Amino acid sequence: MKDWGHEPYRVGQVLNWLYANRAESWDVMTNLPLKLRQRMKEEWTLHVLEWVRQQAAEDGTRKFLWRLPDGHLIESVLIPANRALYGDPSDRQTLCLSTQVGCAYGCAFCASGLNGFRRNLEVEEIVEQVLAVERWYRSSIAQAQAEARTAESPHPVPRLRSVPRNIRSVDNIVVMGMGEPLANYDPLLKALAIINAPWGAGIGARKITISTSGLAPQIRRLAREPAQYRLAVSLHGATDAVRDRLMPVNRKYPLRELLAACDDYLKFKGRMITLEYVLIAGVNDSPAQTAPLADIAHRLKAKVNLIPYNPVEDLTWTRPAEADLEAFHAALLDHGVQATLRREKGSDVDAACGQLRLKTERGPLTC
Ligand code: SAH
Ligand code: SF4
Repeated sequence: MKDWGHEPYRVGQVLNWLYANRAESWDVMTNLPLKLRQRMKEEWTLHVLEWVRQQAAEDGTRKFLWRLPDGHLIESVLIPANRALYGDPSDRQTLCLSTQVGCAYGCAFCASGLNGFRRNLEVEEIVEQVLAVERWYRSSIAQAQAEARTAESPHPVPRLRSVPRNIRSVDNIVVMGMGEPLANYDPLLKALAIINAPWGAGIGARKITISTSGLAPQIRRLAREPAQYRLAVSLHGATDAVRDRLMPVNRKYPLRELLAACDDYLKFKGRMITLEYVLIAGVNDSPAQTAPLADIAHRLKAKVNLIPYNPVEDLTWTRPAEADLEAFHAALLDHGVQATLRREKGSDVDAACGQLRLKTERGPLTC
């Protein structure tokens, strides 16, 4: 601002427009001098994600599909309260962010890697997922209010004031959408710093969880970052034999190396890790897996999040029967592990990562 001959306080005003008010153009920033608005317009780009498609599940989970400027598609999922595992039970909404287009890690059960890896997301493409969902939230409230005003009702509906631009719905972030976040390390950390900043989206670091398939060197690097983000490790197997079958990354960073990196994380951060374990019938759901899984959980002082497999078109894996899910959970509890069996949210909207994009790329849009 100084270089351009403006007062430094203009910076705060611009940030307020961009992040609190989620402006979609420079023109709306009407408290800035016209000359400044014109210069910003000439010299900077204001990226806004293009809305393609949205699906809502019965439980309130909503999946958004966005188109990037180069035509690639990405997803974000808004999950209603009570994902107690990744935040506080009081949280209203959790937003699941993508960090890459596709994924290079090719886990055998996952839709995100099926069409391979296309590219990393830029910082602004990660941040914009939060802003775009908040814009949608504001407009959905405004629409609901307008409908309430016009609906025929035996009782008069009070005229409601307009919805403030900076109304917020997202209070928890999980980086568990498409892609391997730690393979896009620098842009991810920069985006999270903006999402976390009081002048940005203002979401506390402890309410931001990064999920990784197990990139050991990057886990060690994250351990040394000052920011207090939460870490979730996608384990899915408590032995190398099981993990090798599901996750090619295990050949590069086998359990011994992954767990040593997690030890390191624990040493530096002193923060509890979450282990994610997607239960797939006949692959990793045998009771024999519960003892080694309990050993790992105890070693890392970790809680275990059991997730029933969400079937993916074209893949033959299936979710275990209800009784097997419950038996696996009970056995872990018997081993003294803090374990939760997640009741899948949003499976009727293809909420497992990468599924909506896959369907949209393959077939005509239906909604
Ligand atoms: N690449 C990172 C983050 C994105 S995947 C990672 O692997 O951790 C987020 C989580 O969704 C991972 O735990 C992943 O294993 C899980 N997942 C992927 N496909 C799934 C499916 N079809 N059903 C249930 N969980 C799935
Ligand atoms: Fe990539 Fe994660 Fe899917 Fe594995 S589970 S293919 S790392 S997105």
